[in-house]
Amino acid sequence: MQDVFCPIKLTGIAASLCNALGVEKPNEADEPVEVLTKLTEGKGIDRVLMYNPDAIALWIFEKYTHLFTPVMLGSDVTLPLQTVMPSVTPVCFATMYTGVEPEIHGIQSYIKPVVKTDSVFDALIRAGKKPCIVSTGNDSMSKIFLEREMDYFIVETPDEANEKAIEIIKEDKYDLIVVYNGNYDGTMHRHAPEGEESIEALKHNINAFATLRKAVEENWKNHKTLIGFAPDHGCHEIDGGCGSHGLNMPEDMNIVHFYGVI
Ligand SMILES: [Zn+2]
Repeated sequence: MQDVFCPIKLTGIAASLCNALGVEKPNEADEPVEVLTKLTEGKGIDRVLMYNPDAIALWIFEKYTHLFTPVMLGSDVTLPLQTVMPSVTPVCFATMYTGVEPEIHGIQSYIKPVVKTDSVFDALIRAGKKPCIVSTGNDSMSKIFLEREMDYFIVETPDEANEKAIEIIKEDKYDLIVVYNGNYDGTMHRHAPEGEESIEALKHNINAFATLRKAVEENWKNHKTLIGFAPDHGCHEIDGGCGSHGLNMPEDMNIVHFYGVI
């Protein structure tokens, strides 16, 4: 069989998130993804929670589907997507939240400058809404969307990020909460995508999503929320029992997102 690349591109996510909230999409963003428009239209969605685990590939979902049960039960739509090149974290997240190709947002390698291109965060702020980012250390999501009039919660570990996210879900004041977890990416590089530690990190990410979903269900009863499980790029095994990504190959380019309305 020839290499298969998912036909729907990551560039449609930014407009889909804005669409769900009834906000005009970022200036140059690609059109929204049809299935997400159909999922969200007419639902009166006023909140979005995006959970961003790093480096979970579509093939990992295909091979370890049973592990994803809480994510599948906690969402309405399973959406295979093609990420952008080079398939590395800052490039892909810049595209996810601006809706444009890397040559437009300007991050075309593993660098983490502040993205000046109009983003979901800018679009929400213009519409009078409050977005925030919960991320760790010097990771991409802690850096590339800085310099906006919004709140950033930068902590040390994925567990702390998830605890912080639950705390602010309870505070009930942000319209968009983006939560980044980089632990699978870290273990995948050191121990290969299917190494024992990596599968543990994958389970950790899946449980984190389920926990965040529950917090939304319990604390945002007066809201309608779009919740997303949304990785940036995939991964592949390399020599020496390690993992990598960044190439134009299905293992790195094909990812899977899950979205639900609660
Ligand atoms: Zn990444």
